[in-house]
Amino acid sequence: MNDSEEKTTGASFAEVGEVIANHQSFVIMSHVRPDGDAIGSQIALGFSLMALGKTVFLVNEDGVPESLEFFKGSGKVTTPPSAPLDVEVAIALDTATKPRLGEGALHAASKAKVWVNIDHHVSNPAYGDLNVIDATSPATGQIIYGLIKALDFPMPDETRDAIYVAVSTDTGSFQYGSTTAKTYEMAADLICCGLDVGKINADTYDNNPFRKLELMRALLNTLEISDDGKLAHWELREATRIELDLQPDDSEGLIDLIRGVKGVLVAAFFEELEGGKIRVSMRSKDKGVNVCDVASRFGGGGHTLAAGIRMVGPLEDARAKVLAALAEALNTEK
Ligand code: AMP
Ligand code: MN
Ligand code: MN
Repeated sequence: MNDSEEKTTGASFAEVGEVIANHQSFVIMSHVRPDGDAIGSQIALGFSLMALGKTVFLVNEDGVPESLEFFKGSGKVTTPPSAPLDVEVAIALDTATKPRLGEGALHAASKAKVWVNIDHHVSNPAYGDLNVIDATSPATGQIIYGLIKALDFPMPDETRDAIYVAVSTDTGSFQYGSTTAKTYEMAADLICCGLDVGKINADTYDNNPFRKLELMRALLNTLEISDDGKLAHWELREATRIELDLQPDDSEGLIDLIRGVKGVLVAAFFEELEGGKIRVSMRSKDKGVNVCDVASRFGGGGHTLAAGIRMVGPLEDARAKVLAALAEALNTEK
């Protein structure tokens, strides 16, 4: 994309439909350290386009994490090939900033002449040629559902199940305030289309490796809470990651344990990554305390109530800076 060209923001589903109708080959990507919404949205849109007869590559910088391998169609998602793919269109899903697609994925997509950016992060700067950014949607998977319905695209089983998991994982099992009537109507429709609720929820939530509990125990040993009880945090050191032989997705969702404590308004998780960078994960229970704003101050982003940062270490420094910013946000709570 040429930076001097005007960018379309808030593209309609019909405009995205035109791009799809007018091209044959696509690479569909999502963010590094993918979650259920990232991989689910890729599979959902990818299998629908394949059912339309399109040539589709599903690429993720880090591949499919072990906890999401149960997705029907997950075998189609690969890590980036070393040479750029011969594709006309690149589609980024659930990815707040272009660099969060990862260097390898960006290289794989470098021959694409049209970029489509579909996301629900309020901080997304609309980096595509066509951008569908709906910050009112609880998950990118729900936007994909809307797109497929609006354009009357096929809904193979892989797509149906992937949409459900994408939305379920991004809404804390249809619990967060972002969950709307549309979300439940969508889930009902997917069940009418043959989705097996019991099985898919068991696959998603009752399938944890034992080491995830060991991680929980290690995290609990680092748990701290502010004097006023509003800010709780814990951390994961590299030594623990090595000792427990952890996978990157083992910590997925654990922050909800401290978010769930009575009186806690903000939860934060600090993790040492290989190479010395620090990953910060934050959750707020109060819209007056906007963790996306705090994340943005350190080059991160996300949503008002759930946001993240990747910043330079060491962990002590990153933790001190972010905790100070969070304490300030709590003190100026709107
Ligand atoms: P996490 O705490 O990793 O589950 O992330 C919470 C939300 O913030 C998710 O929607 C992420 O996509 C988003 N997010 C996490 N890290 C970053 C980052 N470094 N930049 C922008 N958005 C992020
Ligand atoms: Mn995501
Ligand atoms: Mn998402």
